[in-house]
Amino acid sequence: MEAAQVVTSNGNADGDYQYEIISWFDSVSKNAAMVQTETLGQILHLNYGVEYLKKWFGDMKIQDMDACALESLYASLVPLASHADFEPFIQRIADGDTAPILTQQPITTLSLSSGTTEGRQKLLPFTRHSSQTTLHIYRLAAAYRSRVYPIREGGRILEFIYSSKQLKTKGGLTAGTATTHYYASEEFNIKQEKTKSFTCSPQEVIFGVDYKQSTYCHLLLGLLFWDEVELIASTFAYSIVQAFATFEEQWEEICSDIKDGTLSSRITLPRMRKAVLDIISPSPCLASQIEAICRDSKASNWYGIVPRLWPNAKYVYSIMTGSMQPYLKKLRHYAASLPLVSADYGSTEGWIGVNLDPCLPPEDVNFAVIPTFSYFEFIPLNKKKQDLISGTVGYIEDEPVPLSQVKIGQEYELVLTTFTGLYRYRLGDVVEVAGFHNGTPKLNFIFRRELILTVNIDKNTENDLQLAVERGSEVLNKYGGELVDFTSHAEVMHQPGHYMIYWEIKGEVEERVLGECCGVMDASFVDHGYVVSRRTNSIGPLELCIVETGTFNKVLDYFIGNGAALGQFKTPRCTNNHILLRILNLCTIKRFHSTAYN
Ligand code: AMP
Repeated sequence: MEAAQVVTSNGNADGDYQYEIISWFDSVSKNAAMVQTETLGQILHLNYGVEYLKKWFGDMKIQDMDACALESLYASLVPLASHADFEPFIQRIADGDTAPILTQQPITTLSLSSGTTEGRQKLLPFTRHSSQTTLHIYRLAAAYRSRVYPIREGGRILEFIYSSKQLKTKGGLTAGTATTHYYASEEFNIKQEKTKSFTCSPQEVIFGVDYKQSTYCHLLLGLLFWDEVELIASTFAYSIVQAFATFEEQWEEICSDIKDGTLSSRITLPRMRKAVLDIISPSPCLASQIEAICRDSKASNWYGIVPRLWPNAKYVYSIMTGSMQPYLKKLRHYAASLPLVSADYGSTEGWIGVNLDPCLPPEDVNFAVIPTFSYFEFIPLNKKKQDLISGTVGYIEDEPVPLSQVKIGQEYELVLTTFTGLYRYRLGDVVEVAGFHNGTPKLNFIFRRELILTVNIDKNTENDLQLAVERGSEVLNKYGGELVDFTSHAEVMHQPGHYMIYWEIKGEVEERVLGECCGVMDASFVDHGYVVSRRTNSIGPLELCIVETGTFNKVLDYFIGNGAALGQFKTPRCTNNHILLRILNLCTIKRFHSTAYN
């Protein structure tokens, strides 16, 4: 049942392998409850005696304990914890303490979460198990995808993937994003060999740590290998949209490089230059074909550019759910009829679920939990009946339940116990059980709990914000404008506090229209607390700030400068970060105040 065993066995006949991995998943998902009990047992036995567990188990001998009894004991002794509870332990590891603190196996690598959702990067343990599960979920998902969208063996993937800077901690451990560790791992090469699909760009491009230079080279090489490209992919959809925005600006330069076999002076990193120049050679015919397509596409605002440039591509593959949904519209525009396949659900802490229905539109995708990866618990979240006095809507949390006891339609916060030394760790993601695949739940990602827009008694989640912004941007679209990106802030320094929404837009739109967008958004927040507060003016009119073109690139650059990687970047949808707010406010060129409640 161990993930790594399945991955390393039988790699030659891929058809057989696909059959084998799907059967494996059928078997573990049928016995999900038992597999979960065993998985917890394995984690606790492997890490018996580590400092963190000793705190709760004392000297109790768990080795001889029955697995079910151990499962109940674990939940009764070990408390739920958040990242803050683990931080002192992880910090000691980062500082070089080699004692068995969280795991018996020494931790030599630490991951940095993207930090773009909570505004602060978190350090988390990363082990070989982490890259093995990445490879494993990739191959499992690929097996399901290939049933519907088979791809040619030996083909290429145009992957917009990026590493972060890799830092050394005080204790000499390597720290970088989890994706960076994976691209540097043996598993990344195994993935290419076993799936017989090769990324277009060499390691020097992926590891360039200047995302602008890497994007240029990804595009250039993707076009050079145009006829071999079977799919276009990235970790999060944002990177693909970002890459094609770059392409709109730089296509002529890319074509000129393809024509002459040269490389733009934009690429200054010597190793990246050499690696790309070693691959390219003058291809004037190809360059003129690409040029013709681009001229034509530009006239239709780049609609369908992806299948026109890569006619053999079968689909676009990336995480398109959650905070990536706002980019779907643009992605669909670039991809036209090419299917969009939404990728799996995971986090720096660990992988969670796989998309078993690649045909589903990204809006409807859910994720079947992989019961061997971690031990999963679910905190039931019940929406509070609105408090009539305060008008507050929130969640009442029930006792966590194991995977086998979740109910369809119920919302939960996920709790993970991982092979990397996190015990009953609250992930902060809210999911809803959409159904079951055999005995394992299929989860809809709802939102991240921390991301809440609130001034006083109001509570609006990332979803609520997304819906309001969607409504507002419908008005914008009607008048020929396009929303490029957005974020928000609850301004509470001045009374009454109010919501600020920052929009970067494309196209010329009259001020009257933007004023209307602002009012529509204000009226779209239906949270009772918000509506009541707006009516009584204890929350002021929503403010729409239009920022100048390129502002969200500055936001991206700010995060990248702080060690994030483009591949894991998620525009924070709500922020209190002072530096970010300074960038946004300095770049604001127009402000509108809602008159929705006048
Ligand atoms: P990080 O570890 O900071 O790069 O981000 C992990 C977080 O990204 C998760 O906890 C989720 O909130 C979000 N995420 C990851 N995969 C998905 C997905 N398939 N759909 C929606 N959100 C996701």
